[in-house]
Amino acid sequence: MHALAEFADIVKPNERLAPYMHLRLGGPAEFFVQPRARPELSAVVRRCFQERLPLRVLGGGCNVLARDEGVKGVVLRLSEPAFTPVTVEGNRVKAGTGAAVSALISQAARHGLAGLEALVGIPGTVGGALRCNAGDRGGDISQFVRQVEVLDSRGEVQVREREELRFGYHSSNLDDPVILAAEFRLESDDPAAIVKRMRRAWIQRKASQPLTYQPACRAFRDPRGLSAAALIEQAGLARTRVGGAEVSERDSNYVVIHPDATARDVLRLIDLMRSRVQERFNVELELEVTIW
Ligand SMILES: Cc1cc2nc3c(=O)[nH]c(=O)nc-3n(C[C@H](O)[C@H](O)[C@H](O)COP(=O)(O)OP(=O)(O)OC[C@H]3O[C@@H](n4cnc5c(N)ncnc54)[C@H](O)[C@@H]3O)c2cc1C
Repeated sequence: MHALAEFADIVKPNERLAPYMHLRLGGPAEFFVQPRARPELSAVVRRCFQERLPLRVLGGGCNVLARDEGVKGVVLRLSEPAFTPVTVEGNRVKAGTGAAVSALISQAARHGLAGLEALVGIPGTVGGALRCNAGDRGGDISQFVRQVEVLDSRGEVQVREREELRFGYHSSNLDDPVILAAEFRLESDDPAAIVKRMRRAWIQRKASQPLTYQPACRAFRDPRGLSAAALIEQAGLARTRVGGAEVSERDSNYVVIHPDATARDVLRLIDLMRSRVQERFNVELELEVTIW
């Protein structure tokens, strides 16, 4: 009997994480849990707290690298329909955090609601986008957030109002165990104009990202006033390869994955990028991708 035996219907012990990750890498989670409804999710969170089991939430796995050795404790995935609705009321859009960012943007656009187009082409879920304040110079998700529902470590729902939320460059103070849902306030606009901006954003983003058939992750945050990609390139690391992990030819701050890659290859390449930039420019690169 294990600590989550009463949740046997939704728990997969020793489930390999690789199939759920954007990079298709990573060893097993001790307990992989996909709750079907909020009360079930709350009960799991409560149990983790009581049993002191580490708890992590996986969104689209676009900004997480799971080690080959696997992850102790619980990995939660909010992929069931109870956690993915996107509903529109007036100029407010409410989304479950398991929904894809692309579903949020397209539902808003269908209702003639503008603002989120700048995020077109950013992979992942609404939950990951909130925690990481996804976006770029053209704008980020924080600009439109009005309210966020979270679960605290006792499994209780808490509402975080706009005034309590703090967002920075690819960061937020949404560090509660689970982000459940969020409400966004958008501006009305002509749907045709919104779709035009979405197309432009898509083309611009895809031109700079690694090719879509290559699984990739963004390794580092841009240091203040500098470009991590430029530093890595000037350090002579363009297209450097370690095992099955390679510095992207399109943007040196991305690591692309070949079919034979392991998480260890990615970690070794990231270490090399960081140490070489430190040696050459005395700049300490900070990780963007979260390592589990
Ligand atoms: C090709 C490519 C291009 C990218 N381009 C951009 C870009 O232009 N701009 C940008 O900002 N990012 C970009 N990213 C990074 C990534 O897409 C974003 O960070 C995205 O928001 C991550 O979402 P996710 O659902 O995949 O989160 P994950 O990677 O699964 O998780 C990220 C973090 O959020 C936490 N988390 C996820 N969901 C929840 C939840 N419901 N409750 C609590 N915690 C949660 C996880 O525990 C983890 O700490 C890119 C990534 C790739 C691979």
